[in-house]
Amino acid sequence: MNFSYFMPTKVVCGRDCVTASAAEFAPLGTHALIVTGKSSAKNGALDDVLTALGKNGQRATVFDRVIPNPTIACVREGIALLVSAGADFIVAIGGGSPMDAAKAIATLAVQERSDEEIFAGGYAPAALPMAHIPTTAGTGSEVTPYAILTNDFKETKTSITSPAMFPRVAFLDGKYMKDLPTMSAVNTAMDAFSHAVEGMLSRNATPMSDMLARESLHILYPLLKKTMGETTDEERDKLLYASMLAGMTIAQSGTTAVHGMGYCLTYFHGVDHGRANGLLLGETLRLCREKGVPALSEILAACGDTLEGVCATLDALLGTRENLPEAELSEFARRSAMNKNIKKSAYEPTEKELERIFLASCHTFH
Ligand code: NAP
Ligand code: FE
Repeated sequence: MNFSYFMPTKVVCGRDCVTASAAEFAPLGTHALIVTGKSSAKNGALDDVLTALGKNGQRATVFDRVIPNPTIACVREGIALLVSAGADFIVAIGGGSPMDAAKAIATLAVQERSDEEIFAGGYAPAALPMAHIPTTAGTGSEVTPYAILTNDFKETKTSITSPAMFPRVAFLDGKYMKDLPTMSAVNTAMDAFSHAVEGMLSRNATPMSDMLARESLHILYPLLKKTMGETTDEERDKLLYASMLAGMTIAQSGTTAVHGMGYCLTYFHGVDHGRANGLLLGETLRLCREKGVPALSEILAACGDTLEGVCATLDALLGTRENLPEAELSEFARRSAMNKNIKKSAYEPTEKELERIFLASCHTFH
């Protein structure tokens, strides 16, 4: 029972909450840099934010050039626009990529770092105020203090963090996900699922992070396969809520081996983040059963399924798996063994075990 709990983001949830609760933006500043990709102009989220800011008499400059798996260069471009526009707060709209880019912009705008020092850690708890509007149900980044950026120095993806990276406010409205492509819906749902599961498999799990994870799994697991077809408004709202709960989980526990391994698949093969986790999760859970990890039975109880049932669900979501060369997967195991997330796993897999997971997950036609 020795733990602390910190999650300072105000969550506003419900249909049309961005415009209905426009007053939430007012204390953040006078001029917003809206950090986003291209889809927010089509799904209504950008219009709603501009309407809300307009109601408060706040100015806005749009930076809509965030790319999936944001890079340092993308973050630098956002900071340059922020400075030239004279913006004093940030509104992030989109999936994890715009939300993470926004957190890095908000932090690096007030704490200068050279590119080489960005991943060195030790950030002071200072950042520009942020509001986040997730438009995928996956990362939970709207309630975490992490920004994950492409790290070309180490050829991986690396998180930067500080308590000030928690957004001041997050608006959750599933209506923006109505036209989310099926592949994105499936992949992001696997990311959220992985967060809840890994949170419970973390050395840093607490009674409260476990409570959040169990509730997330309870809602999310029965909806996983539905993401492969048409979902209803209510189902999308639930997916977004469960993704947020999973984000709140990892805000306490961090992610573990699955994310640590998945970054290799994304960095070297462009495998979507959620799919990379989905590919590796089943075999990781089988290893947990072999090692008698106590949290496994709780995870399965929250899902209401057996281990093989969970693996079959993941198989259905994944379809045909990637088939990567054995030598490359051995190299990924070597790299992953040095990843800081691996060390947070309740059972820390050895390099040999990581290799086994990679081979069983992504070397399917041998
Ligand atoms: P994403 O890279 O943000 O978005 C994937 C694609 O979906 C993009 O093409 C995006 O288009 C599109 N899209 C987003 N919302 C849409 C909508 N409502 N309708 C139609 N298209 C939409 O993917 P993501 O899976 O949400 O985020 C992945 C990133 O988050 C990774 O970099 C991962 O490392 C990071 N992550 C962060 C945390 C954290 O705690 N900070 C946790 C897990 C993962 P546009 O972008 O052009 O709009
Ligand atoms: Fe993730």
